[in-house]
Amino acid sequence: MTAQQQAYAPYSGFAVGAALLGADGRTYTGCNVENASYGLSICAERNALFHAIAEGQREFEAVAVVTENGVTPCGACRQVLVEFNPKMTVIVADTAGNRRVYNLGDLLLDAFGPEQLDSTKDVKRKT
Ligand SMILES: [Zn+2]
Repeated sequence: MTAQQQAYAPYSGFAVGAALLGADGRTYTGCNVENASYGLSICAERNALFHAIAEGQREFEAVAVVTENGVTPCGACRQVLVEFNPKMTVIVADTAGNRRVYNLGDLLLDAFGPEQLDSTKDVKRKT
């Protein structure tokens, strides 16, 4: 079963699957998980990222996102992904197999990141 097929999206009916490629070559998957209290729902991309962080990975090369119609990640997910690699490759696919490829920096120009915070001078991130 694919990550997209695991989506819990009873309210929107919009199933999303994401796969994040770590620098270690492993793939970390996630799906969107909705909640009756809508604001508590989480996107597939952030779910995949948090899964990877929980597994100890903090460096990422690419993320692939699959939806029925091939949409790009939302702004919140772009911001969360930029934290770890602003140059990450973003692959967007639809369920028919059509793909588009972006650079995360092009999807979130002039992003706010750890380098803007004095308290995170020592945050290690791949640039
Ligand atoms: Zn999102």
